[in-house]
Parts: sequence; C-alpha cells; structure tokens
Amino acid sequence: MSKTDWITQEIENLHSAGLYNRIRTIGSPQGAWLTVDGKQVLNFCSNNYLGLANHPALVSAAKKALDEMGVGPAAVRSIAGTMTLHVELEKRLAQFKGVEAAITFQSGFTANLATIPALVGKEDVIFSDRLNHASIIDGARLSGAKIIPYEHNDVKSLEEQIKANQSQYRRALIVTDGVFSMDGDIAPLLDIYEVAKKYDILLMVDDAHGEGVLGKGGRGIVDHFGLHGKVDVEVGTMSKAFGVMGGIVAGNAVIIDWLRQRGRPFLFSSAMTVPDAAACLAAVDILEDSTQLVDKLWDNAKYFKAEMKTLGFNTGVTETPITPVMLGEAPLAQQFSRELFDMGIFAMALGFPTVPQGKARIRVMISAAHSKDDLNKGLEAFKSVGKKLGVI
Ligand SMILES: *Cc1c(COP(=O)(O)O)cnc(C)c1O
Repeated sequence: MSKTDWITQEIENLHSAGLYNRIRTIGSPQGAWLTVDGKQVLNFCSNNYLGLANHPALVSAAKKALDEMGVGPAAVRSIAGTMTLHVELEKRLAQFKGVEAAITFQSGFTANLATIPALVGKEDVIFSDRLNHASIIDGARLSGAKIIPYEHNDVKSLEEQIKANQSQYRRALIVTDGVFSMDGDIAPLLDIYEVAKKYDILLMVDDAHGEGVLGKGGRGIVDHFGLHGKVDVEVGTMSKAFGVMGGIVAGNAVIIDWLRQRGRPFLFSSAMTVPDAAACLAAVDILEDSTQLVDKLWDNAKYFKAEMKTLGFNTGVTETPITPVMLGEAPLAQQFSRELFDMGIFAMALGFPTVPQGKARIRVMISAAHSKDDLNKGLEAFKSVGKKLGVI
C-alpha cells in the first residue's frame, strides 16, 4: 500500500463514472476557430464573449506596455507592485461602470477571496444563493462567517432565511452570482436589492459572466438593472468578455478603500502583470467606444438559441449567451461531445461536480467572434449528433 493509492482509486472511480475530465490543449490563439490537440475545430467553449482575447488592439497595447514598462510587477500591490497602469485601469473601470471606485485583483477568484473575508467574520452571517460560484463559496468559508444558503434565485427563500437568522449575528452579507455560469440565468437583482435595503444588509454580486455582456455596452449587471449606487459590491472579471485576466471589485468608495487595506490577495499575492493591465485598458477603450461587439454577441446568441429550440433541444432557463444543452447523464454528454469533436465542433460536456448529478450537459458559449456561417455549422452538427444519439 502506498500513501497515494487512495488517489489512484478515486481517479479510477472518475473514469468508470464517465466523470474524468480529459483536458484538451489549445495550439492557436483564441477565436471562433481553434487548433485543439492538433485539429482545426469550431470553438463553442471559451468565455471569449467579445472576441477580445486575440484582438489586435489588445495585443498591440500589451506589446507597447512591455516595451515601456517591462513584464512583471515584482511585488504585491501594497508594497511596490502598484504601477501607473494599475491605477489608470482602476480609474477607467470606475468611470466605465459608473461607480465611485474600483480595485483590481489577479483574478475574479481572488477578488472573491479578498472581498468576503474583508466584509464579514466569525460573528457574522452570509446569505448565499445555493448555486453560487466556487470562488464565492471559498471566500465565504475563509471568512469564518456562518453561511446560510437560500434557494436559487428565490427571493422569498432569501427573506425567510434573513428573518429566521439575522438577529443572531453582528453583521450580514447577501451574495449572489450575477449570471449563473452553468445555466445562463440572471439573478433577480432588483428584488434582492429591495430585500437587502429592507433589512439593511450589505449586498454583493459577482458578475463575472455579465461583465462586458450585460448592461449598456457591457457595463454589467448593476447597469442592466439600473441599480447604480445601490449595490455595495460588484465583483467582475477581465478573464471572460474582456479577453485577458484580472478581477475587479467596483462600488462604494469606502469598501474599495478598505479592500486596499484588508484584501488579503491584494496584500499577499503579486499584482497583475504589465501586459495584462495594458490589454485590459485597451478592452475598456473598445467597450467605451462602441456597443458593436456586445450587440453582435447578443444577436448571435438569440439566433443560436432559437434555432436549437426549433431543432428540439432543451436549452434550460438561459437568458444570456450561455447555452446549456441539457442531456441528463454524464456518459451521454461526454459521448455527444466526442461525436461533435469528430465533426470538428469543440463543445465541452459538463458533469458532476460542476453541475448536479443527472444534469449533465454540453455548454455552448456563443461569441461575437462567430460568423453566421460558424453558427450554422454548429447547428448542423448538433442536429446530426442529436439524431444519432436519440436526443432529438
Ligand atoms: C469565472 C468566474 C470567476 C473566476 O474568474 P477568474 O477571473 O477566471 O478567476 C468568479 N466568479 C464567477 C461567478 C465566475 O463565473
């Protein structure tokens, strides 16, 4: 017996349950088409909503910054890692989103790990949507606060939990994803805000999949619902629609100031790199300049979802460009994905624990980078594999 036998056994279990995740390698820049494991395929997997990940303006901004400022920040933000580009990016993001202030982190994941423990601790309570992202769950656990889940997107359940529990704790925080990444549905933020206001509770939304997607020209979920100045903390990421890497926290200036003092990934993990920050600035320029890419993304998404429905697929409850194709059991979803791949379509199967047991699916990620022709190719392949496997 070796110390790692149990891991070997667990991995075998994953294989036999059809849940082992075989990670594919991309050998080309991100875009509508990719080279995956040496093969040219149509890309339905990336979070590159606006096609910015290989946009010439972002690439040249990164190159220019590399020449002028080097590569690495060589320190954490709070000691010697805050460069002019970071400060400018935060200023521009705050303007773009119409908030008092913004702070950036290395990623959306670390933004959540920074923010939640800075706002609540052991004597406090967090009311958390049952389907919140792993980084919210981890941030909540790190805080040491009591975590009370409420039913997904169910404001009545949220209010019941608040009534039953709030008085036993010092402070409270309500936290929800903005767009839920597995189903593509949107949090009822107006109603959640009303509850937060009624009970005087801090409100935080993680809009990773809404940043650059929802709201006017991609200004995010707070803009989408017209809740400017009312949501205390809006977390976002620049790794999805922005096409780069980096987390954002936008909102109340006092909270942002506090995160510079107490956000642990800000204090104890190095800053975003120079080319990342420069490319993110170029992304803000593009979004401020025109709504064209965001409009194209939504046109593409509406077209693809309507055609999939006509073909007879179940695309669940999505309200965004995220298009889940519900298949049920993980082995079927994996087989569907393999058959698509053989036809030159790259669309990943998602199973437990990413989604609940029995709710395996293929998740199609629509992008502004797709042409109508690309979408039609995808639809043809879904139709053919769906018929072959008896799904439609
Ligand atoms: C993707 C995602 C994150 C993580 O963002 P990164 O910048 O990739 O770390 C956090 N929260 C939600 C809701 C996400 O969808």
